[in-house]
Amino acid sequence: MPIRLLSEAVASRIAAGEVVERPASVVKELVENSLDAGAARVEVETHEGGIALIRVRDNGGGILTDELALAFRRHATSKLETADDLEHIATLGFRGEALASIAAVSRTTCITRHASEATGTRIRLEAGEVVSQGPVGRPPGTEMVIEDLFYNVPARRKFLKTHRTERSHIDAFITRYAIAYPRTAFTVVHDGREVLTTAGTGDVRDVLLSVYGTDLGAALLEVPADLTLGQPICVGGFVGPTNVHRANRGYLTIFVNGRWIEDLRLAYAIIQAYHTLLPVKRYPVAFATVELAAEDVDINVHPAKSEVRFRDPDAVFRAVQRAVRATVLREAPATTSWSPEATADHAAAPASGLLSASRQPGAESESIRARLASLAAAQTHIRFGDPEPTSSGLGPQEPSRSTVKFGPAVAAPQADPTTAAERRLPVLRTVGQLATMYIIAEGPDGLYLIDQHAAHERVLYERLLSDALRGQIATQPLLSPEAVALPADEASRLEELLPALGALGVEVEPFGPSTFLVRALPALLTHLSPADLLADIAATAGESSPVREELEEAIIRHICKRAAVKAGQVLSREEMEHLIRDLEATGNPRTCPHGRPTIVQISTHDLARHFGRD
Ligand code: ADP
Ligand code: MG
Repeated sequence: MPIRLLSEAVASRIAAGEVVERPASVVKELVENSLDAGAARVEVETHEGGIALIRVRDNGGGILTDELALAFRRHATSKLETADDLEHIATLGFRGEALASIAAVSRTTCITRHASEATGTRIRLEAGEVVSQGPVGRPPGTEMVIEDLFYNVPARRKFLKTHRTERSHIDAFITRYAIAYPRTAFTVVHDGREVLTTAGTGDVRDVLLSVYGTDLGAALLEVPADLTLGQPICVGGFVGPTNVHRANRGYLTIFVNGRWIEDLRLAYAIIQAYHTLLPVKRYPVAFATVELAAEDVDINVHPAKSEVRFRDPDAVFRAVQRAVRATVLREAPATTSWSPEATADHAAAPASGLLSASRQPGAESESIRARLASLAAAQTHIRFGDPEPTSSGLGPQEPSRSTVKFGPAVAAPQADPTTAAERRLPVLRTVGQLATMYIIAEGPDGLYLIDQHAAHERVLYERLLSDALRGQIATQPLLSPEAVALPADEASRLEELLPALGALGVEVEPFGPSTFLVRALPALLTHLSPADLLADIAATAGESSPVREELEEAIIRHICKRAAVKAGQVLSREEMEHLIRDLEATGNPRTCPHGRPTIVQISTHDLARHFGRD
């Protein structure tokens, strides 16, 4: 075949495939256009999962009669003029491709009236060709009706899933935009049944309640704007407390400058923010918004505009991770008796480098310090008996654009000495031990079961981290240094870790091929066998983790696992009382460093119910 230019019709069909993958992509493009047009109300209606019909109606600015046919031409847009404009795009659309692409693969009708014109216009296109156009009466705004999607692309039509699947893709999209644009009232109707409606009051909490239901909607914690206010990267949104988690990442949503994006790295940033706080293999629920200067993010990466490129991806990663972590920790339902001096110290430590998974000698204590700084910073923020955040506290917004900055009105949290008493965990009275595994305790609201191993792990973990920060790990020399031989691969891994171990109070030196001499251990750990400990630590370095976690922390976690009291160990009353007191003093008494719960509570109310006293 000779080389020739494709006809406009063929080129459109090819390009349409990139923009319009399924009914939800049509809904996305149309709703984005409505939002760009400043709509305060957007109604979405579908039949048969959007395959038979999609209708999106808005009360936005409308389209001028003279420009209507043009709007359906490829690369026709009112949102961009020069190539420079691409550097600072403030609208959701800018490529001028969506209407052309949608019209190319469907029968499309648009009825619109520009606010400045007395009557509206109706245009109809089939497979991208205008088949009729004429005046029609309607209030200002735009209604797009897309019928028989992919009727002329049978291959694509075959790939569509069931109506229900297509509907759920549409719902997933609209619910997210409804949260990000709380000033816009959304309605979604599938096959005549209304499935979602939001009031458009501007209160994000209202939307969360409509979208997620009362339980989850009320439980989500607001990421306070003060955490990143005034920074080049502002992070906001809502995140689940540690007792809310899901089996997959489907509940992680990220908006960048008002646009829903899919970004694996930022999803990791959120997951990592919950590190050690959630049970293993569980994922958080989060709706994070990131606002940054338009020139610091490139949204022109893919026709569907769901991927972006950041000028400084690491900075965005860190900002998201920190804001989410601080929010989660500050709302953790527990308290600490962290000493004020230590807190001041930690707060003064550099907050950067939380994620520096650096393995260079010397960098270790730095990252521990940073990690602790975040722990300590979070602890000064822990408040008890806080009312649920009630309103999103949205600041003033231009009515035309409703890109959301969540909740700037929350006051900066202060460590308030007068509430120190309130901040303490309830006093628990030790009742006894169960199955040589759990401590039974009584508190003001019922029965508490504490996993002795998990609780002790948490206690040791925080103590070692804190000591390491202050360079005050008490070490105890072994009476006679012990030689430990390791398999070659483990030995070479351990060699890399020696500087980190030194910082943690484990004094080890190479001693012949694959053999090490242990000279001292942290005082907390002298009951451990040096051979077991080294083997364990060498194994840590070989672990592959889905998130970049800090080496020192991983080592400490391993050490604590080995050092903590085991299930099956009988504890005296004093030991149990001691352990509970120590647990109360930790920053995160509710989970062990591996994310399993340390404590289970059965409230007096639940007990009464079980006994039929209710
Ligand atoms: P883009 O959104 O990238 O500009 P589209 O193909 O989606 O490209 O839309 C083309 C143009 O049509 C837009 O730039 C806008 O001027 C106009 N338009 C589309 N939908 C609407 C709407 N709902 N209300 C007002 N104008 C609209
Ligand atoms: Mg558009």
